[in-house]
Amino acid sequence: MERRLAVHVLASGSRGNAAVVEDAATGAGVLVDCGICKRDFFARCEEAGFDPARLAAVLVTHEHTDHTKGLGVVMRGLAKLGVEPTVYADSAVRAASKEIAALEGTCDMRELRAGDALSLAGMQAHVFRTSHDAASSCGFRFEAEGGDVVGFMTDTGVVTGEAHEALRGARLLALESNHDERMLWDGPYPYPVKRRVASDQGHLSNAQAAEELKALLSDALEQVTALHVSQNNNTYRLPGEALAEVVERAGHSARVQVARQDGLASMR
Ligand SMILES: [Zn+2]
Ligand SMILES: [Zn+2]
Repeated sequence: MERRLAVHVLASGSRGNAAVVEDAATGAGVLVDCGICKRDFFARCEEAGFDPARLAAVLVTHEHTDHTKGLGVVMRGLAKLGVEPTVYADSAVRAASKEIAALEGTCDMRELRAGDALSLAGMQAHVFRTSHDAASSCGFRFEAEGGDVVGFMTDTGVVTGEAHEALRGARLLALESNHDERMLWDGPYPYPVKRRVASDQGHLSNAQAAEELKALLSDALEQVTALHVSQNNNTYRLPGEALAEVVERAGHSARVQVARQDGLASMR
């Protein structure tokens, strides 16, 4: 199988999320979420070797501001370069987000629904539902011509059967690994917030991410990046260790890395 797709996680964590999925054969790509400032967006695209002028679309997973707060400034920055990507968001997400509402009428905005298969930047983007305390939330399976697959899932309290099916057979996997359960319960958050994070509509723990990775080990899988690592309830070391342990125990060769809040993490 041709290694055709690349994932550039521009930032990941509770202070801001954005990632580019690129068809490296053509240089075209899509942006998943935009919760970072214009300067970081352009700087990290450059660092990744991705030309933002080749952005065909922006996909919004859900309306939480760590995924949407940079949409306006980045879209205006792109427009100055003559780049006008289509923005895809669920209608419930559009209704719940003032960042997205502010974009209405300034760009081509289209509906995003779970079950959709969108043709974008030479890829097929399959949309699947996630389980999160948002108006609506989703993850993506990207497939390139020739069969290369990227799985992308963040902000979900559990891995549903639908999500697991969509992530199967990925060569590159970007998977939420938000918190260490002990650090969460022993940590500084008020009890209702702890309960929310740990709930089925919250975020995946390191242990849940490891369990899902174990179920997704395949001959195709080459690289895994842990996403949305909590600043308060996790460290950058723990998710890497939890995921690497799964890979090592299975005698698998997949490479594990952890995406950062303040730096680029690419998979090719
Ligand atoms: Zn969220
Ligand atoms: Zn988030």
